Amino acid sequence: MSSNGTNGSAVAQSKGTAIVTGSARGIGKAIAIRLAHDGYDVCVNDIPANKAGCEEVRSEIEKLGRKSTIAIADVSKLSEVTAMVETAVKDLGELNLMVANAGIAQVKSLLDLSEDDLRRMFEVNVFGVYNCYSAAAKQMIKQGKGGKILGAASIVAFKPFPLLSHYSASKWAVRGLTQAFAMEMAEYKITVNAYAPGIVGTAMWELIDSELAKKKKMQKGEVIKKYVEELTALGRTSVPEDVAKVVGFLGSPDSEFVTGQTIVVDGGIIFT
Ligand code: NAD
Repeated sequence: MSSNGTNGSAVAQSKGTAIVTGSARGIGKAIAIRLAHDGYDVCVNDIPANKAGCEEVRSEIEKLGRKSTIAIADVSKLSEVTAMVETAVKDLGELNLMVANAGIAQVKSLLDLSEDDLRRMFEVNVFGVYNCYSAAAKQMIKQGKGGKILGAASIVAFKPFPLLSHYSASKWAVRGLTQAFAMEMAEYKITVNAYAPGIVGTAMWELIDSELAKKKKMQKGEVIKKYVEELTALGRTSVPEDVAKVVGFLGSPDSEFVTGQTIVVDGGIIFT
C-alpha cells in the first residue's frame, strides 16, 4: 500500500480533503476517524514526539478506504503550518476542511504563572489556531470554492475554571478569532466555527485531574469524578466521539448556514 494509498479496494468518491491538527490521539484522533467515515480524505498532524500515533491513525483511515497522509508540524510555527497545508493539498487534493484542534493545557494559579507559561499557552492555543485559520483560508480562497474552518475552543471559553486561567483566556481568544474570521471569510463562502467540549476523558484531562488533585489534596481521579457528578447534567464523562459527532456535522453540508458559532458539546455544563 502506498503511504497515502487506499488498499486498492473500491473507494467511494471523496468528499474532499480535511486537515485535523493534534490528531495522533484524543479528540483529534476521533475527529480524523469520524471525518474519514464521512468520506473525507484526512491529513493527520501532530508534533514529532507523536509520530507513531499519527501512523496508527493514518492506517485506521486507510482501512476505511479513504486516503490519508501525515504532516508533522508544530502549529505554533506559521512556516510549518504552511508546509502542512502544502503537503495535504499535494498528497490528497484541494483543501475543503481545516480542523484546528491541537491545544495544550496547564494547571497553575495566576500568581504562580511565569511569562513563559503564558507565552507558550498563547503560542499553541491562539497563534496555533490563527496560523491554521489563515493558512487554510488563503488556500481555500486560491481554490475559489469556499470551504469550512473549525477550531477547538472549550467550555472555559464561556466560564473560566480557576487554576486554568491562561488556558481559559486562550480559549476565549479562539471564540473571538472565530467570530471575526467568520465575518471576514463570508464573502469567500468560507464558514468558520468552533466546538467547545466539556470534560473529555483524554490525556489532557488526566493531566488536569492529577494537577488539580494535588492542589486540592484529593486522590487522582477524584476531581474529574466530582466535576462530572456536580457539573454535568447528563452525568457522565465525555468521550472524544461525543465531540467528533458535532465536528462531523460542522464539517458536513448540513451546517452550511452556520458560521461564527462556538458550539458547546459538554453534556450540560454550560448553557448558552
Ligand atoms: P490531548 O492532549 O489528548 O491531545 C492534543 C494533541 O495535540 C496531542 O496529540 C498533542 O501532541 C497535540 N499538540 C499539542 N501541541 C501541538 C502543537 N504545537 N502542534 C501540533 N500538535 C500539537 O488533548 P485533547 O483532550 O484531545 O484536546 C484536543 C483539543 O480539545 C485541545 O485544543 C483542547 O484544548 C480541547 N479541549 C479538550 C477538552 C478535554 O476535556 N479534554 C475540553 C475542552 C477543550
